Amino acid sequence: MSVLDAWQQRLDDARTDRQRQHRWRTRQALARDTLDFAGNDYLGLAHDPRVSEAQAEGARRFGAGAGASHLVSGHLDVHDALEEALASWTGRQRALLFSTGYMANIGVLQALADSHTAIFQDRLNHASLLDGATLSGARSRRYHHRNMNDLENLLKRSDSVHKLVISDGVFSMDGHIADIGALVTVSQRHNAWLMIDDAHGVGILGDEGSGCVGSTWRSDDVPVLVGTLGKALGTAGAFVAGDAALIDHLIQFSRSYIYTTAQPPAIANATLKALEIVQQEPEHRAHLNANIAYFRHEALHLGLSLSDSSTPIQPLILADESRTLRWAAQLREQGIHVGAIRPPTVPKGEARLRITLSARHQHEDIDRLLAALHDCQQQESL
Ligand code: PMP
Repeated sequence: MSVLDAWQQRLDDARTDRQRQHRWRTRQALARDTLDFAGNDYLGLAHDPRVSEAQAEGARRFGAGAGASHLVSGHLDVHDALEEALASWTGRQRALLFSTGYMANIGVLQALADSHTAIFQDRLNHASLLDGATLSGARSRRYHHRNMNDLENLLKRSDSVHKLVISDGVFSMDGHIADIGALVTVSQRHNAWLMIDDAHGVGILGDEGSGCVGSTWRSDDVPVLVGTLGKALGTAGAFVAGDAALIDHLIQFSRSYIYTTAQPPAIANATLKALEIVQQEPEHRAHLNANIAYFRHEALHLGLSLSDSSTPIQPLILADESRTLRWAAQLREQGIHVGAIRPPTVPKGEARLRITLSARHQHEDIDRLLAALHDCQQQESL
């Protein structure tokens, strides 16, 4: 079989496989009054007219795109202003913008780790962290989810001089929050650097929404902090925050920072507005937290098997893949969009509906979701 035939075979298999991934046409569906419980726009800022207007105004002032990479001529004042605002928000000396969170993680790991480095990651870390570790050429170990004893044992057995411990701040498919204090203690005990990817925590947790690390933990404790802008902040892109020496190092050595077009300045302008709202209007976080509490209370009352999460990510573990697809399809028929998450994104036997809450949701939206979930339960008992 030629290489092309082999690829064609894989494509054919994927077409006939009921389990293949779908790209739902959300926009089209939204026109039909679909309720979105699948996205990461936790504070509703992607739809805030002030943020959209800042983006439009940014495009008028700076153009539609940056036109070049940061180190050539694509880095504008608005990028500087955003980097300064992000650094001060998270209590760090400096911050550096990346075009996406995926690129930030790849770029940080490639710049900080090499074959002399040992990387220790939580098993449930995001794919970009796993890929970044692989691409860096470092030796990688994965510890059991949030299990500090396991991490400690792996660190004890390592003879590497350079050690890097990495964890998601909020786990994207489970909603659990990492125990940052414990990670700091264990990392320091073994002379390891600590990197936290707080993609799902920034905007939501901590003082002024600065995340689960943010202003609570200093850069001596968590030297490498990554946050993304496409989730609670409602725009796109990512940042790394830390000491000036770290940021200077990344500017010189992080290939996914150097060799790519800078974030569109209009996006930077919109993000500055989103950040101002996050810092000055705690009511969006309060409304989101009330929604989370309401949903959990009612869902547990229905006997639904929610995972133990206090964040907007509320997975409903259904275990079986076809059952998960069936429930998601049934919800979609009722105009409700949730994520149907299956292996390899989550471990085998842990397929789930990834339900996410937002400050955009009203009680009646959540009631509609709960009623539809109840219908799914009832259909199964028929
Ligand atoms: N880190 C985590 C924990 C994520 O969940 C994601 C995306 N879902 C990323 C990084 C990547 O961010 P981006 O979408 O900006 O590439």
